[in-house]
Amino acid sequence: MIIVLKPNTKKEEIDAVIKKIKDKGLKPVPSKGVERTVINVLGNIRDDSVNGFKSMECVEEVIRIMKPYKLASKEHRSQKTVIKVGDVTIGDGTFTVIAGPCSAENEEQVMKSAELLKEMGIKIMRASAFKPRTSPYDFQGLGIEGLKLLKKAREKTGILVETEVMDVRDVHLAAEHVDILRVGARNMYNFDLLKEVGKIDKPVILKRGMSATIKEFIMAAEYILSNGNKNVILCERGIRTFETAYRNTLDIAAVPILKKETHLPVIVDPSHAAGKRELVPALSKAAAAAGADGLLVEMHPNPDEALSDGAQSLYPEQLAALLKELKPICAAVGKKL
Ligand code: PEP
Ligand code: MN
Repeated sequence: MIIVLKPNTKKEEIDAVIKKIKDKGLKPVPSKGVERTVINVLGNIRDDSVNGFKSMECVEEVIRIMKPYKLASKEHRSQKTVIKVGDVTIGDGTFTVIAGPCSAENEEQVMKSAELLKEMGIKIMRASAFKPRTSPYDFQGLGIEGLKLLKKAREKTGILVETEVMDVRDVHLAAEHVDILRVGARNMYNFDLLKEVGKIDKPVILKRGMSATIKEFIMAAEYILSNGNKNVILCERGIRTFETAYRNTLDIAAVPILKKETHLPVIVDPSHAAGKRELVPALSKAAAAAGADGLLVEMHPNPDEALSDGAQSLYPEQLAALLKELKPICAAVGKKL
């Protein structure tokens, strides 16, 4: 951090800034110019210390040079994080497709989805038991019954299962039933939930909030990492812009920048970005080309009857076709599919 003082700041004021820096356990390196003094501050700088200096009367500007995220950063860990779940690895150069219905609706639909996915060679099924719906009158998910169905699907078919948690109180129960937990876009800022999923040892897919900056997104991951869970997968799912022709704007640049800034695997959800199934193949292929480690994509055995997000859910045969189309793109960027 660099603290730039206002021109002609008095010596006592400079000394007060220096004392405050030292009191915070940081090291001041002042350099006095003709007109103004600039103080370089070394050490482990937290956001609240930056704000503490910004508010001082004699301070003109505080420039932060250290990244606010530590554990998520490449500086902290130069090797890529590889997530191991069952016999699947995510982030090791494989392109991992996680697919399935938006919601777990009933036993038949969950089992049918699992079987269809297995036939296509997909090893992880998504399906939400707890649903964050915009309207309280829409299908809210099967809750614990949904978790039990997912566990049953895994026992019967061997497919790994992934689901969303919305409530701190459900985290440990959900972790007993599924292989991967998901924090949805609406909960990216739910810091208590982030802390709680930080206490389990199962992988967590963290989705980007719909108006979250990249920095805020990585800071949310930092909450999980700093509570002890190192198995975080970042998921770009589109952000809210002025555009209304589709549900969200897939921020494809997020993929290379997240990979540059962090060591965590990055996957893309083309379904919630698109809102329409016709756009899903193109967005999926763009994600693969941009270097994503995989997809989280909605497929329903019968999208026309889906209780949530039918319009953006692929028909099973569309997902099978997409997997074929992804192969040469993954090969071109050096990923195995
Ligand atoms: C989902 O994946 O089921 C979902 C609700 O997506 P998002 O949190 O990205 O809106
Ligand atoms: Mn959905």
